[in-house]
Amino acid sequence: MAVPSSFAPRATGQDEVALERELRPSQLADFAGQEGLVPPLEIMIRAAKGRQEPLEHILLAGSPGLGKTSLAMVLATEMGVPLKVTSGPALERARDLVGILSGLERGSFLFIDEIHRMPRAVEEYLYGAMERFCVEFTLDQGIHARLLKLDVQPFTLVGATTREALLSAPFRSRFGHTLRFDPYSPTALHRILKRNAKRWGLRASDSALRRLADHARGTPRIANRLLRRARDLAEVESAGELQDAQVERTLDLLGINSVGLEKSDLRVLEALARNHGGPLGLKNLAVAVDEAEDTLAEVLEPWLMRCGYIARTPQGRVLLEAGWLTLGLNIPSAQESANSGPS
Ligand code: ADP
Repeated sequence: MAVPSSFAPRATGQDEVALERELRPSQLADFAGQEGLVPPLEIMIRAAKGRQEPLEHILLAGSPGLGKTSLAMVLATEMGVPLKVTSGPALERARDLVGILSGLERGSFLFIDEIHRMPRAVEEYLYGAMERFCVEFTLDQGIHARLLKLDVQPFTLVGATTREALLSAPFRSRFGHTLRFDPYSPTALHRILKRNAKRWGLRASDSALRRLADHARGTPRIANRLLRRARDLAEVESAGELQDAQVERTLDLLGINSVGLEKSDLRVLEALARNHGGPLGLKNLAVAVDEAEDTLAEVLEPWLMRCGYIARTPQGRVLLEAGWLTLGLNIPSAQESANSGPS
C-alpha cells in the first residue's frame, strides 16, 4: 500500500514552514489554549493604545512549538505596528544589532527568537536601547576613541526563549513582563485541530482529532504536524476522510507508541535503563542517544519529565518508576542498583 513520502520523522522542510505560517492564529481571540496569558495582554494593549505608547518589553518563555512566535505576531497585529524578526544567533556583532535598531519605526516590535543565544557583548548594547532608547558605542581605540550615541525610536522588544534560566538577571529584569507558556491541554489542542481541519476542508471525525490531540505532547506545532501527516494518509487511503483508523496508522508510521512516545524518547529511557536508571549527566546521555545536548534538554526532556518518566537531579538524569514500567522492565531493587556501581 502506498505511503505518503512526507512520513519522515520530525520533518521540517520548506512545506512545513509554509504550513506553520498558514495555520498561525491571526488575532488574540484565536490564540487558544493559553487562557492565563491572554487577559493581561488585552489590558496591556488597551492601556498602551490609550496612552499612544509602545507596549512594554516582553519576554516569552517556553518549549519549542508552544506559540511564542505566533503570539509576538498577534500582538504586533493587535497594536497595529510593524514587526521586525531576528534571532539571537543572527546578532553576532553589536553592528548587526545597531543596524536593526536604527531602522525601527516608532512603536515597532523587534522580535528576537532564541534570545538566550545572543552574545553577551551584544546583549549589553541592548540595555540602553531598552531603557533609554539610545545606544552608546565607542568608535576607534586608544586616544582616538570617541563615544557615539545613537537615538532609537521607542520600540517594544519581544524576546523568545526556550532556556529562560540562561538569560542573565540584569537582562531579564529589563523586561516589563515575562509570559511563561505551559503545554496545552488535549482539549485545547483538539479545538485547534478542529479549526485547522475546517480551514483545510478536511472531513475528520471528532474522535480522530481527539486521538491526534492526545498524542501531540501538549504542543500545537506537533499537533499540526500530526494532522498534516494524517491528512496525507486520508487522501491516499480513504478518499480524504479522516477516521480513527487513519490516525492509528499515522501514529504507527511515525513510530509513536500508545502513550505518545516517539522512538527518540524511548532511546532516552532505554539509555538510562542500560545505565541502571542513572544518574547520567546531560553530555553522557546526549552521546548515548546520539542527539545534540540542546535538543535533548529543550525538546525531549521537558515532556519526559512532565509525564514523570525521568527527573533531573543535581547528580544527573534518572529514570523514574513510570519510565521503567513503560519500557516493560522491572525496577531494580536498591541492592541491585548498589551492586551495579556508579554509572
Ligand atoms: P514557538 O515560537 O514557540 O516555537 P510557534 O509560534 O512557531 O511556536 O508555533 C508553532 C505553530 O503552532 C504555529 O505555526 C501555529 O500553527 C501553531 N500554534 C501555536 N500556538 C497556537 C495557538 N495558541 N493557537 C493555535 N495555533 C497555535
